[in-house]
Amino acid sequence: MLDIAIIGAGPAGWSAAITARMRDMRCAVLTAGDQTGWLYKAAKVENYPGLPAVKGADLLRSFEAQALDLGAEKQLGVVRQIQPMGQSFMTLCANEIVESRAVILCMGAARPRLLPGEEALVGQGVSYCGTCDAMFYRGRRIAVLSARESGAEEAEFLTRFASQVDFYFLRSHALPEARGFSVVEEKPLSLSQEGEQIRLATDRGAHDYDGVFIFRPAVTLEQLLPGLAQEKGFIVVNRRMETSLPLVYAAGDCTGQPLQIAKAVGEGNVAAISAAEDLQRAAKAQG
Ligand SMILES: Cc1cc2nc3c(=O)[nH]c(=O)nc-3n(C[C@H](O)[C@H](O)[C@H](O)COP(=O)(O)OP(=O)(O)OC[C@H]3O[C@@H](n4cnc5c(N)ncnc54)[C@H](O)[C@@H]3O)c2cc1C
Repeated sequence: MLDIAIIGAGPAGWSAAITARMRDMRCAVLTAGDQTGWLYKAAKVENYPGLPAVKGADLLRSFEAQALDLGAEKQLGVVRQIQPMGQSFMTLCANEIVESRAVILCMGAARPRLLPGEEALVGQGVSYCGTCDAMFYRGRRIAVLSARESGAEEAEFLTRFASQVDFYFLRSHALPEARGFSVVEEKPLSLSQEGEQIRLATDRGAHDYDGVFIFRPAVTLEQLLPGLAQEKGFIVVNRRMETSLPLVYAAGDCTGQPLQIAKAVGEGNVAAISAAEDLQRAAKAQG
């Protein structure tokens, strides 16, 4: 069991991890992938104190190295859901459950736009998890809609179960040369229920499937943690970086403007201090 699960490996997440380790908290940074944060794209950062004209990727690598040297853990995988369990949280990261006593949300500002009709069909033919749901589609026809490279691995895994796997890009990315699924060069536009089947409308027509699997590098806040208070797409926090849910904190771009590295680092630091204080207080109260 971790003390703190930190979601996202940008400046906010690594800063939270560094401070959590300074407070002797066992923590892991769970992240959709390496080199995925916005800072990675910044060719030159000129306003980070003490490091003039630093490359974004170099700054990010040095945050990570510092956190890992201090004993923070790192786990790769998209976090799809966080389930509060009373005394702890169960976080679904790729296909693994990570248990922690507190959570710090540092997912940045990029949120996926769902396809029209998608939300209503989740669990009714639309799935985000190959290993969880593949067996329901044994011998059936499915579509995979992918916005990340690991979507191809998921599609390959699904070919072991489904009789047909049609692969559509939601965003272009690399694909392996040898593959057991067929790529359909059409743009997915919407999903709807058609009797027992799911209808995928594209820019060239419509196709009916028994199931549709969707793989993106991020999830909506509603899917991630239902009940989290938001305003204009950002997570509502107070000065301690507490969210509307107990022992859930948030830091960085996901809490709103200004979208800046120094602000993300500062909020990550405050969130980790608050989480450590609250966990220590709770441990004392329990004796
Ligand atoms: C081109 C560019 C140049 C910039 N230049 C500057 C600059 O010069 N100065 C400045 O101050 N700011 C700059 N910024 C802004 C700065 O990069 C951001 O403010 C900063 O990166 C925010 O940090 P963060 O940790 O909140 O989020 P991010 O850096 O966006 O990190 C979010 C992390 O969360 C992960 N994630 C998201 N959802 C999930 C999920 N469901 N499961 C697992 N992981 C998830 C992502 O993969 C990523 O690792 C620039 C941004 C860009 C794009």
